[in-house]
Amino acid sequence: MNRDENLIKLGETEVWDLIVIGGGATGLGAALEGATRGMKVLLIDKFDFAKGTSSRSTKLIHGGVRYLRNGDFKLVRKALKERHTLKKIAPHIVNNRDFIIPIYNWIDFFVYGIGLKIYDLIAGKYSFGPTLFIGRKKTSEALPGMIQKGLKGGVQYQDGQFDDARFAISLAKTIEEQGGVCINYLGFESFIEQDKKAQGILAKDTLNKQSYHIRSKHIINATGVFSNTILEAVKSDIKIRTSRGTHLVLDRSFLPSDTALMVPKTSDGRVLFIIPWRQHVLIGTTDIETEDIAFEPKKSQNDIAFLLSNAGNYMKKQPQLEDVKSVYSGLRPLVSAAKKNTKYLSRDHFLLQSQNDVLHILGGKWTTYRLMGEEAIEKLLAHKTHQYSQSKTQQLHLIGYQTHPNFEDPLHMYGDKKKIIESLGATTSLSQTIFLSEGMIIYAMKHEMACTLEDILSRRTRILFLNAREAIRLAPIVVEIMGGFLQKDKKWEKEQRDFFIHLASNYHI
Ligand SMILES: Cc1cc2nc3c(=O)[nH]c(=O)nc-3n(C[C@H](O)[C@H](O)[C@H](O)COP(=O)(O)OP(=O)(O)OC[C@H]3O[C@@H](n4cnc5c(N)ncnc54)[C@H](O)[C@@H]3O)c2cc1C
Repeated sequence: MNRDENLIKLGETEVWDLIVIGGGATGLGAALEGATRGMKVLLIDKFDFAKGTSSRSTKLIHGGVRYLRNGDFKLVRKALKERHTLKKIAPHIVNNRDFIIPIYNWIDFFVYGIGLKIYDLIAGKYSFGPTLFIGRKKTSEALPGMIQKGLKGGVQYQDGQFDDARFAISLAKTIEEQGGVCINYLGFESFIEQDKKAQGILAKDTLNKQSYHIRSKHIINATGVFSNTILEAVKSDIKIRTSRGTHLVLDRSFLPSDTALMVPKTSDGRVLFIIPWRQHVLIGTTDIETEDIAFEPKKSQNDIAFLLSNAGNYMKKQPQLEDVKSVYSGLRPLVSAAKKNTKYLSRDHFLLQSQNDVLHILGGKWTTYRLMGEEAIEKLLAHKTHQYSQSKTQQLHLIGYQTHPNFEDPLHMYGDKKKIIESLGATTSLSQTIFLSEGMIIYAMKHEMACTLEDILSRRTRILFLNAREAIRLAPIVVEIMGGFLQKDKKWEKEQRDFFIHLASNYHI
């Protein structure tokens, strides 16, 4: 993936078959579907791939146990099938994870046990493993960090876990391998219309400020929570409502095991996950309706207090504010319905064709990105499917594909590209707490279109999300390596560092 080369391709291409606006899960899924079916595809993102919600999820590839409660069986079934597919096409990024719902009274044993048996039944042949009722001893052995008082046992089930931003980068690379073109830091400005039909877009390079008129036969809007501006421009009645989900990251000593804990009902009736994530523990999430639609959602002290207190109800080592290594928030794009609380709005997706012929993919989940892409392209090609090949994305291995990955290896998510990373620079870690090598930094710039210090520390290596203060400590070291590789001057390095340190202050306490 080379941005300069892609900008040249942009200038050389007269008409694309498809432009996808937005490089999150949804846009990447649609672009890959289009490219694999033989379309000439361009995907653009105003910032970086997965800059929005798609790097800020709970990192579960799941059917969504909590959606059963809302009776969303159709969504759960679709998602469970996709879970199986994603594990098959990207086994280096998606792993099985054991979850336990701790049980403190026998009614809950019955209610959650039955619920998860239904989850198994819905999964059918796509199951990740059976739900088990386990006793007190087994539950406490699997979750030694959990408060044992009053514990009766647990309901154990299996789901999928992944690294969202790394999956997005792998998708972008796969799109390019399939002949598509992805360009980050290229923002949509407006549609170019003829006879009230969109024939292309005006886009602006946010790095060098150059503008481009880009023509295309089809256009997809996949800008997630940022879709309202585009929906207003096309005079749509449909709107995106937004709900903020906050996560905290703690040291692994708070959950010293490989099993995740699922709290089915917090103090205000939500679901809470406490999940091992690399050498850390991820706690989330909240579900608070908000109108503050920002690329960097501000941390909320209420959300942090809520998560600490609800997780603390289950943890022997009580997490305090100063234990939080990182806090991050993401915004859920929910298709607007009647005046329901956002936690009851369906997480299913919705395709909308506006009068100017633009296709908008709204809502959805990370887990169903591939299916959403398939449905969107199927809709675009409705009468022309004979000109293009059948969908292949259910079988297509993503870049890095590797069977039997070692999930203990800090480079496992690069799969079979690990050797390239090791050949590009020093293999020792620049940090004592999180693995970050010079090779990873150079690989991100050379092969993953990382343009800024933030791209590297946030989405290529995840350090900001794992430990914000460590990311700030590493910033000068990383930017110097970047400056050398990209032949940038000290002024550029300082600007990058200052910008990143300011941004990172929203991620630490
Ligand atoms: C807290 C939280 C936890 C979640 N956990 C899970 C989970 O565990 N599992 C799961 O399956 N799902 C989960 N989800 C849902 C999932 O993360 C989202 O559905 C998904 O990431 C949305 O992807 P998207 O591509 O639609 O939006 P985004 O990821 O926000 O992508 C939109 C992109 O559009 C770009 N953009 C915006 N404006 C422009 C413009 N003018 N020009 C060009 N580009 C533009 C942005 O930069 C952004 O990259 C979670 C969501 C939240 C909020």
